Amino acid sequence: MFETLKAQPADKILALVQAYREDPRDTKIDLGVGVYKDASGNTPIMRAVKAAEQRIWESQDTKVYTGLAGDPAYADAMAALVLGDAVPRGSVAAAATPGGTGAVRQAFELVRMANPEARVFVSDPTWPNHLSILSYLGMEVVNYRYFDSETGGVAFDGMIEDLKAAKKGDVVLLHGCCHNPTGANLNSAEWDAVIEVLQSTGAVPMIDIAYQGFGDGLEADAAATRKVASSVPECLIAASCSKNFGIYRERTGILMMVTSEAAQGLNQATLAFLNRQNYSFPPDHGARIVSTILNDAELKADWMAELEDVRNAMLGLREQLAGELQKLSGSDRFGFLAQHRGMFSRLGTTPDKVDALRDKHGIYMVGDSRMNIAGLNSDSVPILARAIIDVGI
Ligand code: PMP
Repeated sequence: MFETLKAQPADKILALVQAYREDPRDTKIDLGVGVYKDASGNTPIMRAVKAAEQRIWESQDTKVYTGLAGDPAYADAMAALVLGDAVPRGSVAAAATPGGTGAVRQAFELVRMANPEARVFVSDPTWPNHLSILSYLGMEVVNYRYFDSETGGVAFDGMIEDLKAAKKGDVVLLHGCCHNPTGANLNSAEWDAVIEVLQSTGAVPMIDIAYQGFGDGLEADAAATRKVASSVPECLIAASCSKNFGIYRERTGILMMVTSEAAQGLNQATLAFLNRQNYSFPPDHGARIVSTILNDAELKADWMAELEDVRNAMLGLREQLAGELQKLSGSDRFGFLAQHRGMFSRLGTTPDKVDALRDKHGIYMVGDSRMNIAGLNSDSVPILARAIIDVGI
């Protein structure tokens, strides 16, 4: 029977990793895959994560199943981290998932289950996995304008105009902070305008928040998510702990449904049912690391301090790169790189220039010109800046 299978499209970013590995040049720079790297190119385990793991190892006395929605302590800790006190805890149904990707997948399945006709509005561009999962699930996708490659910012008027086409029964997928792949984000007044459109159309927002703490800080990065969740009757939130806790391989995410308190019980049961259909009990180790850290004042303070160092390192690299490019180009046209937030910036150039950066200079970025800022360090920033000018960007 398997002779019927067709080759599936390869993941472009993973193909890039392979090409980088095979490049013999020792001056090569990897700005591809979305993993945080420190100045020496390592992705360290955070101090608080190590300490939490040690505590878990010492105190855990069983590996028996958790609940279908995961450990309630993890859900409580994540609801507090992402939502603060923006909505009553009693209005939030939550289920642990394998990573943020698992939360995204479960959210889409939930939408399809509630309304098979739902259209999902996604930013152009968005994280490619959103599109790939939606296509796999046979769900209808509608693009809304998002990135303005002239300014490197958000094409806000176009975005609002496109979102007005959403209707009740549709879903609008928004990146809570640190937009992937562009790095361009809405300001607070623009979020207010988006909320107004959501309120007038009745479309349900789904917020994917995978980089809380990587942009302007833990609280600031959650502000938009909180504002949206407290302004509309129904909201979905898919959160990932992969980046901000650096626990990529532990597969730690959560799907939250914010609705009325009256609907919470049914929603909680529905999320548990959906987990059961796909993988039964969600992974627990990463979730337990997260709740151990968030429920201990000392570990939490240390995690927050280390996360701030990570965030500031990326901001410093952004500013250095924008500064170098300003000197070399004699213009401010790269100023957007310092305005962008999170791990990524879209340079806004053509695939042939991206190829030239790779072939001529050994600089690897995704074909749409997305760069992982954390792939740089203070020595490689000037090299990248010179290469960008050299290939005529
Ligand atoms: N959403 C977005 C926008 C992302 O960039 C990522 C990470 N690449 C995720 C969700 C989920 O990541 P993970 O499954 O590794 O937690």
